[in-house]
Amino acid sequence: MNEKGILFIISGPSGSGKGTVVEKLIKNKEYAVSISATTRAPRPYEEEGKHYFFKSKEDFEKMIENNMLLEHACFCGNFYGTPKKYVDEQLENGVNIILEIEVQGALQVKKLYPQSVLVFLAPPTLNELRKRLEGRGTEGCEIIDGRIERAREELKYIEEYDYLIINDFVENAVSKIMNIAMAEKLKVFRNQNLVKKIEGEI
Ligand code: ADP
Ligand code: 5GP
Repeated sequence: MNEKGILFIISGPSGSGKGTVVEKLIKNKEYAVSISATTRAPRPYEEEGKHYFFKSKEDFEKMIENNMLLEHACFCGNFYGTPKKYVDEQLENGVNIILEIEVQGALQVKKLYPQSVLVFLAPPTLNELRKRLEGRGTEGCEIIDGRIERAREELKYIEEYDYLIINDFVENAVSKIMNIAMAEKLKVFRNQNLVKKIEGEI
């Protein structure tokens, strides 16, 4: 029997670089990324089913009622949630999966899957965060202010995470996450099959 996949959760303030870092990580075929459902309007470059599943509020509520979401949360006026089925299938098949979600959702998943690995990706400073959000150009001034406020709130939850990574340079952050993944894979409790093999039982 396969060892189960590892569930990696990457959180961090909007604009800290989660999307950028995850895009590089999944070039490595060992990881699958979960596509979330959201009631937020798509950004010009975003595609249905690639970046998000874009939903009306009514459809999103139906997903909650039908128990289709592993977790969900409201973020700056929009709802976001992780479809449950895909995550469970990947883990069952031994595929490592990445959830790129905000703090409230991360804490819900941590309760359901205590063996998940929680990584907090922070910007070097909140000033740099504002610059990145302005540079991305996908939100106006007021929404950026809201996201910076939310970032202050999210920073209070760092202690709940297993690892803190400062996204100074993308390549540094990616290689640190890959190192974390390597160490996590080698943990004894994730390698019970190997232990049995050494003992000659399989
Ligand atoms: P998030 O997914 O966390 O909201 P993004 O990945 O969209 O953040 O990144 C926000 C902006 O910051 C993007 O324009 C991205 O190109 C830029 N960015 C990401 N990482 C870095 C970095 N290490 N240094 C400078 N700019 C970065
Ligand atoms: P954005 O609107 O910038 O794409 O995302 C806003 C925030 O929602 C980010 O912090 C992102 O990580 C988070 N997010 C994206 N998908 C999900 C999800 O499925 N669940 C939760 N809880 N947060 C999500």
